[in-house]
Amino acid sequence: MRPYLRDKKTFTFEEIPEDTCFEAGYLVTENSGWRSVTPKIDAQACIGCSQCYLYCPDGVITIQDKKAVIDYDFCKGCGICSKICPKNAIEMERAI
Ligand code: SF4
Ligand code: SF4
Repeated sequence: MRPYLRDKKTFTFEEIPEDTCFEAGYLVTENSGWRSVTPKIDAQACIGCSQCYLYCPDGVITIQDKKAVIDYDFCKGCGICSKICPKNAIEMERAI
């Protein structure tokens, strides 16, 4: 999967992901700190299927080395990624 487009000054239309989300930093503002629950990925269980990437409404998940990675600066803790994961590899942990 491609790295974040926001790190590039220009990009082509074809580089924009074909899904419901776009990318952290474009449609949402940095919101780290007000989440009440946080998605934690079990890297052993993750098979890199990209379902969480496709469904995350804030576009804060990337697939790196065939594993999901979450940008916690922008994740709002909605839990959709956890619900959609076919391997139950994402657990929502309550912030202490
Ligand atoms: S949906 Fe689950 S298994 Fe698929 S990439 Fe995301 S964390 Fe990994
Ligand atoms: S909890 Fe919501 S915002 Fe955070 S990574 Fe999962 S789907 Fe995206």
